[in-house]
Amino acid sequence: MRAEGPPPAFAELELLEVAPHPEQLGPELAARLSQRLQLPCRLATPPEDLLIPELAGRNQIDADRLLGVLESLPRRSGSVRVGLTHRDMGHLIFTHFFGRARHGGHAVLVSTARLDPTFYGMTPDHGLLIDRTLREILHELGHAGGVGHCRDWECVMHFAATVEDLELRGDTYCPRCAAVLPEALAPGARETPRGL
Ligand SMILES: [Zn+2]
Ligand SMILES: [Zn+2]
Repeated sequence: MRAEGPPPAFAELELLEVAPHPEQLGPELAARLSQRLQLPCRLATPPEDLLIPELAGRNQIDADRLLGVLESLPRRSGSVRVGLTHRDMGHLIFTHFFGRARHGGHAVLVSTARLDPTFYGMTPDHGLLIDRTLREILHELGHAGGVGHCRDWECVMHFAATVEDLELRGDTYCPRCAAVLPEALAPGARETPRGL
């Protein structure tokens, strides 16, 4: 999505579950995210009257409209909202999204529907579901941090069309992406090289 303004400060993350996975992934994801990014990550509850925009006739959330709703909710200064849902989500043109974000946005949105092995008829695997979800959240936070897709398969910012791609790509920001991300997402990467 198009760039709009400088990336947010990433002083903290706010994890907001909307129509969540029955296993209540929020607390574990919040702990893993704050450990991984060295950022405070707190759980928040959505307003009771939160509107969940649907795509007519598709049993899917309208991802971009829900992202807009999440961005419009009041937030603390410097806070970036991570919206998480277990509903499948799509767009008029695209069949589905694992996640959605706007460059420089203050909210990202990730759906666990197609990250869950049970979606593909496999046995439940909590660890795999958490791992995939974390990777996808890091990817979308990178977009909010102003970075587009990366050609490097070792980089979490590589595009993933399928859940297999999502596991093939790396789970960290490559040096090129890290160098332009906000400090909070990639600590130390902006340091200028020493010497002459
Ligand atoms: Zn992307
Ligand atoms: Zn990269």
